[in-house]
Amino acid sequence: LVREAAARHERAEQTTRELLGDSTVPAICEGAFSFEDLRVRVDVLVRNGDAFDLVEVKSSTRAKPEHRSDAGVQLRVLEGAGLTINRVGILHLNTEYLWTGGEYDLDRLFALQDITAEAREAALVVDTNVRSFREALASPQMPDVRVGAHCTRPYECPFLAHCWRDVDYHHVCELPMLDAAQLVDLETAGVRDIAQIETTSIRLSPVQELARRCVVNAAPYVDAEALSAELDELEYPISTLTVAFARPALPLFEGTRPYAPIPVAWSMSSVGVDGAERAKTWTAPGDADRDLRAKFFATLSQALPASGTIVMYEPADQRSVVLAASEQGSRIAAWVEERGLALRRLVESSYYDAALAGSFTLDVVARVLAHERPLRAVIDVSSALNEWANADTTPARRAVLSDDLVRAVESRHTLVVGVLAGVFALAGSLDEFDQ
Ligand code: SF4
Repeated sequence: LVREAAARHERAEQTTRELLGDSTVPAICEGAFSFEDLRVRVDVLVRNGDAFDLVEVKSSTRAKPEHRSDAGVQLRVLEGAGLTINRVGILHLNTEYLWTGGEYDLDRLFALQDITAEAREAALVVDTNVRSFREALASPQMPDVRVGAHCTRPYECPFLAHCWRDVDYHHVCELPMLDAAQLVDLETAGVRDIAQIETTSIRLSPVQELARRCVVNAAPYVDAEALSAELDELEYPISTLTVAFARPALPLFEGTRPYAPIPVAWSMSSVGVDGAERAKTWTAPGDADRDLRAKFFATLSQALPASGTIVMYEPADQRSVVLAASEQGSRIAAWVEERGLALRRLVESSYYDAALAGSFTLDVVARVLAHERPLRAVIDVSSALNEWANADTTPARRAVLSDDLVRAVESRHTLVVGVLAGVFALAGSLDEFDQ
């Protein structure tokens, strides 16, 4: 392992050279290399005869397009610096690996995906790209680059607020589920404003066409009849349930996989047909057992009414609850399966407002439909669980983490309740829900 910090690149290069020259060293982690003013630190270089294999380690679950460009830059620098690289791979977590306790089986915890061909292709454009970056940096003029999907994909650009400040129309990026081919078609046709889309020349999905009509008509779309019909199906007591999930990269509890959703806190409220309300929130207290899953479902099955509809927002959260509950042998699995309603599906099928900008996430829908303020990140739930479950964490610190989890799940729950009330209002049934 080359330990020198990034700021000490020359020193790190010196250490790397010494390790390269020592044929007994089988692999070098964090090796430092330079070529024509480009500097890289390489996650792993594995000695392979007189050559090396380049391995990029990612905490993702697969190799993504942006990883290929990353590996391409490293490959260009390494080969420019005189190394021979045989293969290039992305080492990522394997979500199929089921941890059954003891030491992690590293060969199964990770999966290596060979991307040699893609990295070689990406390496070919590095020189041209670097030349254009240098020109942009040397120029007194700001580059004339239009805003578009590249501002947020794959990462959100830090100049977003600056570049988008004068965009006073609905950009085509706001079309729901816009795919890459459609984006290319729209860019080729020079269309940036949703209102300017010619439906005869661009193929739009039904929801995208709906979004276009909302922009053109400057009015939201509501299928009140369909919403009413769906809401009529709800059975009292109507329980709204919000669950905070941690998704630890490394399995924390036996019988779990990398990034498996672990439910750590719940918040529920229910309204009876007589208007009586109940609300409760739970997470494990600071002195609870390290594995909180059994307690999670025991407390939840005591709090949830044994009948009536259970409303959650995300269908994926609903599925995760069912899965985790079945693993614990909890009746919550059957309850959510039989009585569950995913509110997002209802919203997506019967409502659109141009202010949604193509997104149906809880934050966005709550802001537009229920005028709720977006959530401030109270806590990173996965980091909190990692710390909470660590044997070295003191009970006092765990109690602080528990309080933070409660606040996080309650804030999210407020949004779900707000959206549900908003949906009733759209269907013209607010009075009934408010009773
Ligand atoms: S927001 Fe970033 S990516 Fe988008 S145009 Fe501005 S600088 Fe480029």
